[in-house]
Amino acid sequence: MTHRIALLLGLAFLVGCSGTPELKRYEYVEMVMASPARVVLYAKNEAVARKAARDVYDDLHLLNRTLSDWNPNSELNQLIDHAPEALEVSELLHNALVEAKLYHRKTNGAFDPTVGPIVEVWRTAQTTDTLPDKTEIEEAHARVDFSAVELRPGIAQITREDVKIDFGGIGKGIALDRAGALLRDRKLSSYLVDLDGDIQVGAAPPDAANWTISVLPIDESKPMELHVTHASVATSGDLFQFVELDGVRYSHIIDPRTGLALTERRQITIIAPTGTEGDALATAGSVLTKDELQKVIENHFPGTSAIITTYGPTKDTVTLIGNPPVHKLDAP
Ligand code: AMP
Ligand code: MG
Repeated sequence: MTHRIALLLGLAFLVGCSGTPELKRYEYVEMVMASPARVVLYAKNEAVARKAARDVYDDLHLLNRTLSDWNPNSELNQLIDHAPEALEVSELLHNALVEAKLYHRKTNGAFDPTVGPIVEVWRTAQTTDTLPDKTEIEEAHARVDFSAVELRPGIAQITREDVKIDFGGIGKGIALDRAGALLRDRKLSSYLVDLDGDIQVGAAPPDAANWTISVLPIDESKPMELHVTHASVATSGDLFQFVELDGVRYSHIIDPRTGLALTERRQITIIAPTGTEGDALATAGSVLTKDELQKVIENHFPGTSAIITTYGPTKDTVTLIGNPPVHKLDAP
């Protein structure tokens, strides 16, 4: 009998010890693709947190080596150089192309990573401070053709030698989804990953009901706070990335239908279940009208919402699509 009580006490002691240990907050920042990548996570000790963050950063660097159009040796550039021949590609590149195709179709072509040649024309315009001429843009526009990218299991083929792919509009979203999956696999469910403004959060921090994300509106006097868990928040617009020539501000986002850089001053924030969806829809939403974006979201992405800020001459107009978790929308 004494023996049994001792055993029960022993069990009780074990249960007491195995209850959830207190989680501590850890935060890391590392430069990836010339931008700061921030990882905030809650873990039981620093060794666990540091290892997880390291693995996230290593994966971000791998993604960069695979998908970057800036890096001449990336797998993406090898595929482009190999056109019009087919090439056996990594699962990572194949999946990115599959995802890009999906968003291209569901946004009626507004999301199109083959705008690459036009993006290059504008990069040159930015460095030389000269407006590209019409023919140059028209020639680059004639090379926008996602139908030239064909996919078979394990194989990708760009059937036109002059077509280029640019994952700038979706790469960060893909990276966020991989980072989130890696952390969740390790049972690190409370996390935030911030890739220079495109953010994914997991479960709420242990001491809070949710994560608060501030979205920088065009007019900085009106802060917007989002309260979120298990969501991705992506913002596109010309707030930071643009070129101003002859008094006109040209965005780094291209309308694939016209071949022109956007000049309407708008900022789109998408709150989506995945990073890929958020990133692709924020880029596509910058090209689409508000009604077009609303239709795309209603038809294909029921779990997604959007905040559109249009920069007016005297004040901004904020329009909501769906039910974004905006906590505070201060009057000017
Ligand atoms: P984001 O900041 O996510 O909107 O991505 C903008 C980047 O995506 C640009 O710098 C280009 O590299 C690329 N891009 C521009 N226009 C488009 C488009 N219509 N569809 C897909 N990618 C685009
Ligand atoms: Mg994007």
